[in-house]
Amino acid sequence: MASIYEYSKEELASLLEGEPRYRVDQLWHGLWSEGLDIEDITTIPASLRATLRAHFPAALEVVNDVESDQGATRKWVFRLEGGSTIETVLMRYENRVTVCVSSQAGCAMGCTFCATGQAGFSGQLSVGQVLEQVMFASRAAAPLRLSNVVFMGMGEPLANYHVTVDVVRRLHEYRGLSARHLTVSTVGVAPAIERLAHEGLPLTLAVSLHAANNTTRDELVPLNRRYPLERLHVACQRWLDVTGRRLSFEWALIDGVNDTDQAIVELAEYANSLGAHVNLIPLNPTPGFLVRGSNAQRVAAFRDGLLARGVNATVRNTRGRSIAAACGQLATVTNAKRRSLPVRSA
Ligand code: SAH
Ligand code: SF4
Repeated sequence: MASIYEYSKEELASLLEGEPRYRVDQLWHGLWSEGLDIEDITTIPASLRATLRAHFPAALEVVNDVESDQGATRKWVFRLEGGSTIETVLMRYENRVTVCVSSQAGCAMGCTFCATGQAGFSGQLSVGQVLEQVMFASRAAAPLRLSNVVFMGMGEPLANYHVTVDVVRRLHEYRGLSARHLTVSTVGVAPAIERLAHEGLPLTLAVSLHAANNTTRDELVPLNRRYPLERLHVACQRWLDVTGRRLSFEWALIDGVNDTDQAIVELAEYANSLGAHVNLIPLNPTPGFLVRGSNAQRVAAFRDGLLARGVNATVRNTRGRSIAAACGQLATVTNAKRRSLPVRSA
């Protein structure tokens, strides 16, 4: 069944044919401006709310709800119709409130260090299922206003391309979020990056690089064999040329693998050639990948090495480690379809 968040105002108006026009305005305002659940839009009569709820049951069923960082981070596991599970994380910072959404149930990209990649793919999400994650988190954040949405949960957003584009467009039009507040993270699906550049969407693009030589990247990110660094560079350059917006690279620091002095040189060259910002994240441990994250000292030295080479680099603090809620580390072993785990040894 479709989610109410999939409907435009005009579509809702035709569903509510016979009701006065101001009812549509009240419903729309309640749903999108106030972010209320259908039951709580008290400006519309209870009977109509009940009809709407019956017509549009919630798409997400909470099966787990955990907190960490003294309540600043909260993670939900949701079950979808059909049984697969996804995860959504809410992070409260001093100056912003961010939700990290899943774009797919599982992921087919198979990145070796990623819990989602290790568990495999179990299905695409619909526009409504992604938007419901945002609106659910927005209600949980109240009275704070949800300010940022990042596509860094389970799945590869550009492998669910139309849904990602539609969700971004709606969050912009219906919630007023702009490019600084909407971030799509991609493993590097080069043709999709080029296509996305032409959509005219207000969004920030983050590319999960993790290695700037093909040998290491082939191992960490299997998609690199299809779209190697040279091809990815062409796509990134196109993004810059068309959108005029700065890119960022994600780099999960892995002990002895991509935290070496040589890696600093390679990354600095790649990032500088595209004027990209680099976000460093110490790798979160996952069951299927035996190499550890770099220690704090090495993380700092790596950042300093990049800064010395003129790269704009920051270390991202990992949130929700204790509840396996750091973005991109959303273990869902329950999502069946396990494949053989590509395990590296140090
Ligand atoms: N599929 C997209 C978005 C989801 S993953 C992508 O890969 O970009 C979001 C981020 O978390 C990516 O940068 C990903 O590389 C990173 N990530 C995955 N597993 C991680 C781990 N174990 N530790 C730290 N970061 C991880
Ligand atoms: Fe998929 Fe991103 Fe994990 Fe790679 S890092 S397996 S693309 S979710």
